[in-house]
Amino acid sequence: MVKKRLANGEPCEKCAQTEEMLKRKGLWERIDEILWAVEGEDESPGARVAVRHGVKLAPFFVVRDEDGTETVVTSALRLVRQYLDSAPAVATPADAAPIDLAAAARDLEEASPLEILRFGLESYGERSAIAFSGAEDVVLVDMATSLGLPFSVFTLDTGRLHNETYQFIDDVRRHYGVEIETLLPNGAEVSDLMSRKGPNSFYQDGHWECCSIRKLRPLDGVLSRFDAWVTGKRREGRPANELPVVHADPSFRGESGSLARLNPLARWAHVDVFDYIRRHGVPTNPLHDRGFAKIGCAPCTRARTGSPDEADRWWWEERPAEPAAPDPGAGI
Ligand code: SF4
Repeated sequence: MVKKRLANGEPCEKCAQTEEMLKRKGLWERIDEILWAVEGEDESPGARVAVRHGVKLAPFFVVRDEDGTETVVTSALRLVRQYLDSAPAVATPADAAPIDLAAAARDLEEASPLEILRFGLESYGERSAIAFSGAEDVVLVDMATSLGLPFSVFTLDTGRLHNETYQFIDDVRRHYGVEIETLLPNGAEVSDLMSRKGPNSFYQDGHWECCSIRKLRPLDGVLSRFDAWVTGKRREGRPANELPVVHADPSFRGESGSLARLNPLARWAHVDVFDYIRRHGVPTNPLHDRGFAKIGCAPCTRARTGSPDEADRWWWEERPAEPAAPDPGAGI
């Protein structure tokens, strides 16, 4: 394992989290050797291994086969799944006690995003899914990967995304070694809408018909297969009771009826998200550098110009029609 040591002598935060995760799962003994990549010291053993394998971020792992072949693994989750232990112990719905979400919300209100996420993944495992779309969501994927617990990720491909977003999804898939289930809208419904009204009818009669077909119905369908979902939604100054860190989702149903929703980043501000991204080398959508805050469909989102009151989605709608369902997530 190659870990990064900062100039102050401390290991990087993510390296420490990864070590803790491997110890918690009883897998630390399987790490034969630790090499340190020391900040600012290109000749440190870990830095030389990183250069040899073309890796830019620590921690990472070099797995040596019996014949001496070396494979570089940059995702701790992939290391656990493919090389160490493919069956982490997580309670299943059958053997788990019902979860009191209101009590959990009270207990976790002051907890860190990582602790909230750990609660969700330990409680629901792969029966919880991260809704992946934007900057907040890739932070959650990064944290979930560092925990080493099973989880699922899905994204909604509306068919109208920016090309940069498709590249971003691919970058995240490869960076973390995770499968991102991609949900498409019903082809017949899209065909019917476009045949009747053309491709951009939302500019004339509002976005809800198109959003219902391309986003909400696929979302409704995928969530019906899970018991919990994790979103990057933030409060942004609103009271805590408007967005608890954990709650029963009032809008969607899970496989067993109710659906838990976790909002680990509820208490974070926009700056916290990008501070985490910078410190942990998390992949980002290049559109953020061009002024996009939330990135959704290409025809319906635009870069911000700096005015605090400007709408960056559906700006042509003076008074948006009543939503078919609440806004599902940070960028979806
Ligand atoms: S955001 Fe725009 S293009 Fe995307 S689903 Fe909604 S109305 Fe359609």
